[in-house]
Amino acid sequence: MLAVLQTQAGDASTLYLGETARPQPGPGQLLLRVHAVGINRADIVQREGRYPAPAGASPLLGLEVSGEVVEVGAGVSGFAPGEAVFGLVGGGGYAEYAMLDASCALRKPDNLSHAEAASLPEAWMTAWFNLIELGQLKANEQVLIHAGASGVGAAAIQLARLHGAQVACTVGSAAKAAFCRGLGAQRAIEYHRQDFACELKAQGGVDLILDCVGARYLDANLHSLRSDGRLIVIGLMGGANAPLDLGRLLVKRLSLRGSTLRAQPEAVKARLSTALRDTIVPALAKGQLKLTLDRTFPLAEVRAAHAWLEGNHNLGKLVLTLA
Ligand code: NAP
Repeated sequence: MLAVLQTQAGDASTLYLGETARPQPGPGQLLLRVHAVGINRADIVQREGRYPAPAGASPLLGLEVSGEVVEVGAGVSGFAPGEAVFGLVGGGGYAEYAMLDASCALRKPDNLSHAEAASLPEAWMTAWFNLIELGQLKANEQVLIHAGASGVGAAAIQLARLHGAQVACTVGSAAKAAFCRGLGAQRAIEYHRQDFACELKAQGGVDLILDCVGARYLDANLHSLRSDGRLIVIGLMGGANAPLDLGRLLVKRLSLRGSTLRAQPEAVKARLSTALRDTIVPALAKGQLKLTLDRTFPLAEVRAAHAWLEGNHNLGKLVLTLA
């Protein structure tokens, strides 16, 4: 099969389309003919050699796919060849064929294209897991979403608003601020010219922060939280190591938590897939939530797609499409 392969770990120029062996579905798995695969920041880090695929996962890039079932592994019930499905995969999405655990497979609704469906799992499941399950977000709480216009940020803003929270976000440009306000954020702070901790402290602070920047924001995040506030770190775009003021943690009774979706057991991913199916997809169909698919690129233009993401140009998600 055709797949995006790499000459070696490195920048986007190391990616090329080449031939590799088609995977065989094991027990509980579906083999899909991939029509679309979502692009994530994690793909960039994996491409650079800093985020190896977990044991047992395909070493190819690609964490979310939409396509057609071509083969059903032993023990799978409820899915048949020819059905259009989408879902989260442990890797291997940048290819003509990919494996999807049946426990994470969702039937693609007719109102969604394959590209739209492939844009959903990683962003919405990450937002759900961290805001709703780990973050215990409640109605009327104040939440801060960093990188509000990222794939995850755009989902998190909307999910928090759907839960009745008040949302502030940080963004790198005025265009991104307008995009996030369009998704329901009451406040979009342009971090290049505004100090988000000062701005948020001035209005009383926030209860919950979804942070993908890490070290560079740690101190400002702790400043921004109210008493009993929760900081959930899901990314390290601003580094992994920073001094931690434990005094502030004690005095304000703060909680600090980290998580990665990819490392979760299959049962957790299956539960989050159910939340996507039962809550997010119906809310999209009713217009309560918006799809945030910025643009698609043909698989052969994977280098340009990565450059677009690394240039921080995307408003929401990017997706690669296959004929
Ligand atoms: P994305 O669409 O590629 O967007 C990332 C955005 O972050 C960029 O457009 C840019 O927006 C901002 N950014 C880039 N470098 C930055 C830096 N050094 N400091 C501050 N902001 C920076 O990202 P994504 O795929 O949705 O992922 C968003 C984050 O969530 C990533 O850190 C990713 O690793 C993390 N994530 C974690 C999990 C998990 O389970 N832990 C799952 C999915 C994603 P501006 O122009 O506004 O700065």
